[in-house]
Amino acid sequence: MSAGLPLLSENANGKVSSASHKLKIVVAGAHPDDPESGCGGTIALYSNLGHEVAVLYLTRGEAGIPGKSAPEAAAIRTAECQKACSFLKARPIFAGQIDGNTEVNRSRYEDFRKLLQGERPEIVFTHWPIDTHRDHRVISLLVYDAWIESGRKFDLYYFEVDQGEQTQHFHPNHYVDITQAESRKRAACLAHASQQPETSFYPLHERMHRFRGMECGRELAEGFVRHCQNVETSVPEG
Ligand SMILES: [Zn+2]
Repeated sequence: MSAGLPLLSENANGKVSSASHKLKIVVAGAHPDDPESGCGGTIALYSNLGHEVAVLYLTRGEAGIPGKSAPEAAAIRTAECQKACSFLKARPIFAGQIDGNTEVNRSRYEDFRKLLQGERPEIVFTHWPIDTHRDHRVISLLVYDAWIESGRKFDLYYFEVDQGEQTQHFHPNHYVDITQAESRKRAACLAHASQQPETSFYPLHERMHRFRGMECGRELAEGFVRHCQNVETSVPEG
């Protein structure tokens, strides 16, 4: 078990990453607000150190605003993504699937792999696959497949969202201290005003920050599962 930024570990090329090496990171979530709530503190820390973070949204949250049509909701939530990413100094990307109607099939795997490879990421974060929301499971599978097909060229980490309500059976093996970055994460999450984050998901994530912080001996933390076949692992091989 370790605490610290993934970027302090060795990367896929066996080099120890540091602020002098500009990393390319993709954080892939199903809906607007998922990357921010699962990983926003870590994104803020990376971007503050000068690394390049792209936030990849599988959908534009078309089904997420009661009373609004899909195009109306997509427009509102796309603007919220852009605002959230500006707080995190990240670049939004949209993968073009539809909220509540996402698909996993041969052509979706292929299209997603090409999109992700085009970003040439060194580290990718995505949803943990055991999750009550179908769209979360879909993006997790798309990323995992792209990771395998790329020859495990990037390091793969899983994040959690709405622990217990959405993400389940999640036991972190890596932690990032977000005590200094929580205010930026909060601002990014609250940018998703159409979702009423102050009363819906953010209070739960505040509890998660404290709990994950307790686990790793820090005040506030985000927990991750680092894939054990990442090349960068700093654990000595037996
Ligand atoms: Zn979601």
